[in-house]
Amino acid sequence: MLLFRVQTDNIDLLRAQFAAYSKQIPLLYFILCTNTLATAWTFGPLAPRWLCIYFPAALCLFCVIRWLWWWGTRGAALSDAKIIMQTRLTTHLAVALTLVFTIWGLFLYPYGDPYARGQVVFYMALTLIGCVFCLMHLRPAALGVTVTANIPFILFFFFEGHSSLKAISVNLALVSVAMIIILLTYSRDFARLVASQGKTRRLSDENFRIANLDSLTGLANRRWFFAELHRQQASAAASGRSFAVGIIDLDGFKPVNDTYGHATGDRVLTEAAQRIQGACGAGVILSRLGGDEFGFLVESNPAPEDLRALGSAINDVISLPFSIGGSHAPLGCSIGVAFYPQSAATADVLFERADYALYYAKRHQRGQMVIFSTEHEEQIRSHSVIERALLSADLDTELSMVFQPIINLTTGQTVAMEGLARWQSPALGAIPPDQFIAIAERAGLVRSVTKALLKKALAAAITWPDSVRISFNLSAHDLSDAESVVQIIALVNRSGINPKRIDFEITETAMTHDFQQAYAAVRTLKAMGAGVSLDDFGTGFSSLSHVHRLPLDKIKVDRSFITDLVRNPISLKIVKSLTALCTDMGLDCIVEGVETEAQLAILRDLGCTLAQGYYFARPMPAEAVMDYLDDAERKRA
Ligand code: C2E
Ligand code: CA
Ligand code: CA
Repeated sequence: MLLFRVQTDNIDLLRAQFAAYSKQIPLLYFILCTNTLATAWTFGPLAPRWLCIYFPAALCLFCVIRWLWWWGTRGAALSDAKIIMQTRLTTHLAVALTLVFTIWGLFLYPYGDPYARGQVVFYMALTLIGCVFCLMHLRPAALGVTVTANIPFILFFFFEGHSSLKAISVNLALVSVAMIIILLTYSRDFARLVASQGKTRRLSDENFRIANLDSLTGLANRRWFFAELHRQQASAAASGRSFAVGIIDLDGFKPVNDTYGHATGDRVLTEAAQRIQGACGAGVILSRLGGDEFGFLVESNPAPEDLRALGSAINDVISLPFSIGGSHAPLGCSIGVAFYPQSAATADVLFERADYALYYAKRHQRGQMVIFSTEHEEQIRSHSVIERALLSADLDTELSMVFQPIINLTTGQTVAMEGLARWQSPALGAIPPDQFIAIAERAGLVRSVTKALLKKALAAAITWPDSVRISFNLSAHDLSDAESVVQIIALVNRSGINPKRIDFEITETAMTHDFQQAYAAVRTLKAMGAGVSLDDFGTGFSSLSHVHRLPLDKIKVDRSFITDLVRNPISLKIVKSLTALCTDMGLDCIVEGVETEAQLAILRDLGCTLAQGYYFARPMPAEAVMDYLDDAERKRA
């Protein structure tokens, strides 16, 4: 009995069977209808109208309706329940129709002459074989049809009396047995085939999963993220919806990794991934892009407020301390976001824009989320114009150096000159240094820019009195590879200047990229005899940890604290504690951006000894330095 039942426990097999037999059922109805009509036509003059016209017409009409139904569902994705239901219905219907058609054939038979009777026998046998073949993939139906048609057929014709009819019925019985054997073998082989296909698919699914998974955090990886980004873009374009792409970069992770080792770094990353995942609700797809960078996609028309809420939720969980060994690591994160289709029309550009927003956050709004805006778009446009101009610039002639004195407040002496870069582009005019240095960094041009500038700075400094040092700004990228440092040392050696007269100003950004490399670079510069100052102090992230760990000589307190020194008691407090800190650590402290007498008075009160700013002198061209120094010396005397 089990052979006749539709088995619903293996839905994969059932689906495969459905896919196969549903293609053949229309053919089955075609065979049934044409054979029936041909037989009915022969019996037209012989049998009553109800038997040779109305009844077969009704049966054929029913067949056509079912045929149309099958035609309508072809290619449709049906649920499991629907497939089970249809398979059961098809099986029951097949048996019921077989019974009705067989009875019709047997009723028709007595009305025929010997030829017409022969046609009925032929019709019944042929239709049976044709239909069973069409139902090959649906074993219960095929068996049901074979049995239902055979029993009345064999009994009827065997006992009809004529010896040739006896022979036909025995013949059909034997053929049916053979057909059943073929059917059973076939359906078993088909089930095996489907099972092995399922196994292959599961294996390749598993391979797919592994290839798209980040093994450390268990999140989806970069490869998957980009594939998903493209999928999202295509589906959003088709349906007219919007979505957002975001990039999260941990602030302060690199020092943890460098100080405590990679095993601890991995643990922190795994925990950070879990926390971020927890902060992302439904509809947010998170991946690890590599290092301490994560990417996320927010589907279905997110509003900027939704993104801001998500950003602060992520920030909150990352700011909670990470315990490593006995201590706690302070981490933060910056996030860049871009919206489709507002920020870009293609997936790749969209990602670039989110990356730009992240870069912007890192530079200007560290620890926050920045959403790509039209302003950023303008910046990118002007950036690319500047980048092109920089790429084709003759650096030796277009770049120049101006110099701004650093004054000892106690003695009034100029102790050093800071070199500041200037670029006069023939096409674009003067471009401010913070702008073109950043662009050179992004375009990978910083090494040649530094080389041109350092040559000029050293050439100028060699003409000054030995008591005046030269202070030179290095970009983070100058410290991030050993070759740049080698180039700097070679230039210093070639210039003939005593390296002891040089100070290199570095910023904290250099430390956050690759602390180990930057640390090695600083050590190398110091080994040569040069001094190292930390620039823009107080603006960066976790400043104190770097001050502790770097062999520094000086610290330059950022201009922003001096600007509102007179009005803002908090700035006053900060400058006070920063100068005290420097004294404690035995470092020289330079305050930048002194513009007024009032500021200077406060700084003197606080005990500051070194200062720089428009109050003393604006940056001046190399040719003006000697006159300035002479002038200052004369005033002092
Ligand atoms: P920085 O190293 O902090 O340089 C100080 C900046 O403050 C200079 O701007 C200087 O002109 C300005 N400044 C000095 N005194 C005052 C003052 O009293 N009031 C005000 N409002 N501003 C004052 P500049 O020359 O535009 O340089 C901007 C930044 O560009 C520099 O900041 C530095 O980060 C970068 N930079 C300049 N030259 C170079 C260079 O040769 N190499 C590298 N890597 N970066 C450079
Ligand atoms: Ca500087
Ligand atoms: Ca500075």
